[in-house]
Amino acid sequence: MKKVLLGVGLAVTTLLAVVLIRALSMRSVQVTPAKPTVTLQVDREAIAQRLSGALRIRTISSEDSTVFAADEFAILHEYLRAAFPLAHARLEREVVGRASLLYKWEGSDAALPPLLLMGHMDVVPIEPGSEGQWTHPPYAGMTQDGFIWGRGAMDDKSAVLGILEGVELLLKQGMRPARTIYLAFGHDEEAGGEGAIAIAALLVARGVRPAMILDEGAVVAEGMLPGLSSPVALIGIAEKGAVSLVLTAELGGGHSSMPPTQTAVGVLSAAIVKLEEHTMPASIAGASASMFKALAPEMPLVQRSIFANLWLFEPLVLRQLAASPASNAMIRTTTAATMFEGSVKENVLPIRARAIVNFRLLPGDDVDDVIEHVTEVVADQRVKISVSPRSGAWNASPVSRTDGPMYEALARSVREVFPLAVVAPFLVVGATDARHFAAISPNTYRFLPLLIGPADLSRLHGTNERISVASYELMIRFYAGLIRNVAG
Ligand SMILES: [Zn+2]
Repeated sequence: MKKVLLGVGLAVTTLLAVVLIRALSMRSVQVTPAKPTVTLQVDREAIAQRLSGALRIRTISSEDSTVFAADEFAILHEYLRAAFPLAHARLEREVVGRASLLYKWEGSDAALPPLLLMGHMDVVPIEPGSEGQWTHPPYAGMTQDGFIWGRGAMDDKSAVLGILEGVELLLKQGMRPARTIYLAFGHDEEAGGEGAIAIAALLVARGVRPAMILDEGAVVAEGMLPGLSSPVALIGIAEKGAVSLVLTAELGGGHSSMPPTQTAVGVLSAAIVKLEEHTMPASIAGASASMFKALAPEMPLVQRSIFANLWLFEPLVLRQLAASPASNAMIRTTTAATMFEGSVKENVLPIRARAIVNFRLLPGDDVDDVIEHVTEVVADQRVKISVSPRSGAWNASPVSRTDGPMYEALARSVREVFPLAVVAPFLVVGATDARHFAAISPNTYRFLPLLIGPADLSRLHGTNERISVASYELMIRFYAGLIRNVAG
């Protein structure tokens, strides 16, 4: 008995030692920012005014492609021309598709592959009836108490204007980039991204293969990761795919006074319950694994020990991550039943019931895998499964590199502006315009240099969208610094 206890004690001690040694041997992968060689003079009042002006122009996206605010986009184009005179004098500019813009700042060394910076000029509409809840009207472009208010302040006019501010500042300083820089601003990111698709096609046709592409996506998140007090600059290195499946069940109709034991609605409901109970498997792999690898060395010892020993603790971590919708989305292809229709009248049995289930695909799971999974789980011949023709289906993007000079330059540019931030790769769970470009550069990143706390999340696509002037200034400094670091 004593020997057994001794043996167990020894095994536990060894295990603990292994766990601790692995945790303690983790080294920070954060890059040290260089001392800035040139200081940028940013006029806070002027940058706020220029962004405010752009927020007053109603470049609102509509799901209905026959409705398009052509006049508003024309006004915004002219507004940008007037607000950034140097950029418009020195850069080539062309309108692509309906109203997207592509700028080219020619570099001195044609052998260097270019840098492509992206943003979008359209904004989502205001939820009807919610206008009154805004502290300042959504299209008034108010600047007050250090904040610029309005639809587009965060998503994504601050990026469009911020990039142009950065370019304008560098031009003022007489910069001539070695690497060519393209700026691509879509007009319908919120409604399908036809503009971005057209720009991508144009660049492919011209043989342009960027060294790096940067679009919106993840942000600098503050106070959102337990165990980490510093802000985390999440660099989207991949984005999930999407597919909506239509589930249909056809059973005889009739009067509801003499129903069968199960109607078409019941059959479909049972199918959906099964799908919710048997989601696709979770794993810490790819972009999410890269994220934890970068974050773990910055965490307190207990958390670090866990992430340094995923060989032992992965099931525990997965259970924890699966408990919250935001982190669950990072570790699996998600299942969301979104629409359901049955009969047309309260007392009529449905001849046919129809449900839509929306899936967001992890890199590695493709549309066929999802259909196979659904067929297997539902296991009911009466339920027909097909891909919804409305929204289309696409696989997750390729995963961009986290080694090499481009990611390094990006991480360094972040730390120059946000010195306290921990930089980590990230899987973007929504869709961005960048997915149309992923094929032309192995270094396609999705990152908006905007500091966001938990309370700000509901402002995105929501009520009271705003950006602080101080935050906006940091965005501008980031874009200017990145251009200098990558193309200078
Ligand atoms: Zn956006």
